[in-house]
Amino acid sequence: MRETRRYLHMNPELSLQENNTSRLVSGHLNELGIKHRTGVGGDGRSLYMDADMLRLAGITPGPTTGGTGILGTIEGRKPGKVLLIRADMDALPIDEQNDVPYKSTKAGVMHACGHDAHTTILMGVAEMLNSRRDQFDGTVKLMFQPAEEGPGGAVAMINDKILEDPQVDAAIALHVSPIWRAGQIGVSAGFSSAASDSVHIMVKGVGGHAARPHMCVDSTVVASQILLLLQTIVSREIDPFEQAVITFGMLHAGAAANVIPDNAVLHGTVRTYAPAVRDHIEKRIKEIATGIGLAMRAEVQVAYLRGYPALHNDETMAEIVREAASDVLGADNVFPRKPGMGGEDMAFVAQKVPTCMFNLGIANPEQGKTFAPHHPRFDIDEDAMATGVKVMVASALKYLNR
Ligand SMILES: [Zn+2]
Ligand SMILES: [Zn+2]
Repeated sequence: MRETRRYLHMNPELSLQENNTSRLVSGHLNELGIKHRTGVGGDGRSLYMDADMLRLAGITPGPTTGGTGILGTIEGRKPGKVLLIRADMDALPIDEQNDVPYKSTKAGVMHACGHDAHTTILMGVAEMLNSRRDQFDGTVKLMFQPAEEGPGGAVAMINDKILEDPQVDAAIALHVSPIWRAGQIGVSAGFSSAASDSVHIMVKGVGGHAARPHMCVDSTVVASQILLLLQTIVSREIDPFEQAVITFGMLHAGAAANVIPDNAVLHGTVRTYAPAVRDHIEKRIKEIATGIGLAMRAEVQVAYLRGYPALHNDETMAEIVREAASDVLGADNVFPRKPGMGGEDMAFVAQKVPTCMFNLGIANPEQGKTFAPHHPRFDIDEDAMATGVKVMVASALKYLNR
């Protein structure tokens, strides 16, 4: 597993380009004699986003591929329940800053979210469960998915009917986390990751000489008002017992100190749990931004793109994982997990079937492995991979033999 993970780490592939990774997984399943379908996911473009909205936001739809997803199937003693186990395979556009022998060989591409470990772990799970077919009833489906980092490879695979024939009854998945050490996991029922939407606000004013503001409509001043007033939605309009984040990470306008720019643009992200809160924020961002535009004589357009929904862990599935993990790791190595505001496209699977996504500890402070995912120095304690396999296999057997 260490070798496989290091190979994947050295050869990372961006979302929708996981061709080599997919080939490696398929080769492994072939060697094990596990039947599987390749090319799952078809056309990966704009998986769930509205094409008109994308145009308005100025986003070019990503590259098209024939689908790099793989769905493997392992059948037990006799027909029974069907459990889906999922791993994501894509890397991030980050330049790795770790000085390790297995450093990424591709400049600007890095497995900084641990999906190399996720893929390796599911390959290990496949091997273990395949050799234990006489120990369970029912079916295990192995979902190796593209494009978790965007634009939602899980959706493409669901659209390609991976949850049908046989119908999936439940699902599990894991994500690496530096909150815990290798050998430990975090799992809880309830919300695990947030709905993650993006918002793009285009302000069109009238540019001109910086010394003659009365001849202009200053797009930077309009954009500033919008930015500040939008920050009052969470503080003044949302119930303090609900969760919401509005962050604008990009604010662009102008190119010279003595010129009033025609246009300004704001790009941000909205994170929520409750659908009603999500709806409210979407509606209010549009009202406030266009209202300020009206008040200040600018033309304002808002593109609100709904991304991944919130992921809610099923009570029963979380309990199964918790019990299985306690059996194999000891109860002191199983921790409750606080919900986070990150996004995760496993949420699309969780909308369809009872799901538990848990966190696999990968920290090792003595080895300097404490960085969070998406950091250029992110790395894992590789001993954690065995823990991931053990917990997934034990959870699968517990679920299928219940
Ligand atoms: Zn990530
Ligand atoms: Zn990730």
